[in-house]
Amino acid sequence: MKALVAVKRVVDFNVKVRVKSDGSGVDLANVKMSINPFDEIAVEEAVRLKEKGVVNEVIAVSCGANACQETLRTAMAIGADRGILVETDAELQPLAVAKLLKALVDKEQPQLIILGKQAIDNDCNQTGQMLAALAGLSQATFASRVEFSESGATVTREIDGGLETLQLALPAVVTTDLRLNEPRYATLPNIMKAKKKPLDTVTPEQLGVDIAPRLTTLSMVEPAPRSAGVKVPDVAALIAKLKNEAKVI
Ligand code: AMP
Repeated sequence: MKALVAVKRVVDFNVKVRVKSDGSGVDLANVKMSINPFDEIAVEEAVRLKEKGVVNEVIAVSCGANACQETLRTAMAIGADRGILVETDAELQPLAVAKLLKALVDKEQPQLIILGKQAIDNDCNQTGQMLAALAGLSQATFASRVEFSESGATVTREIDGGLETLQLALPAVVTTDLRLNEPRYATLPNIMKAKKKPLDTVTPEQLGVDIAPRLTTLSMVEPAPRSAGVKVPDVAALIAKLKNEAKVI
């Protein structure tokens, strides 16, 4: 079966982001960009399934500017077989990405679609759920374990109270949590091999998808600076502070 993996190009997790002076968004000039960490986990999972013989082709998809090719090459260096870039310079919101992915799901007919649970730039945590709803597929979000059998996929999910196990009929959408696996480092030979793997480019128009934004960002502000912590000498002093200063008890 085919696995389709969505990979987003985001600001690297080590970068301390700055808000633009006009408050219109995050300043992306000269900022290091990387594959979204949860998507790296998604690619690793798909590649492990291929190594186990459960999956026979792993397709990585990225939606965005031409530079997303780099993100696709990273996915292919981990082990994805080919890449699809849905190229646009327009701003893409989760609903638009979900519609683009649905168009590719219709075309490629994968049995498994793996996404990250959230993109670390917008923290939306929406695309996988929207895709499953639009395509009428079963879904399991925040997966920490995925297993396959004749009857479909068994997914263990991380929820507030502990773990939940779901049985899914295929095709299904799965979104990855941090503990699903630890992605491998791409080796130099695999980075070189990835350069030769097929990478197709399509546009949202060719897929017949309207990507017009439905939400407008009114303003973006830095969080208020936090005051430094203090050490209290004993429990009585801590309780006094919680009562009189923080007023939380
Ligand atoms: P979000 O709903 O924005 O938090 O994103 C959740 C997941 O959807 C990400 O971890 C990716 O797997 C996928 N995704 C979101 N935006 C894109 C994009 N522009 N290209 C490819 N995948 C994306």
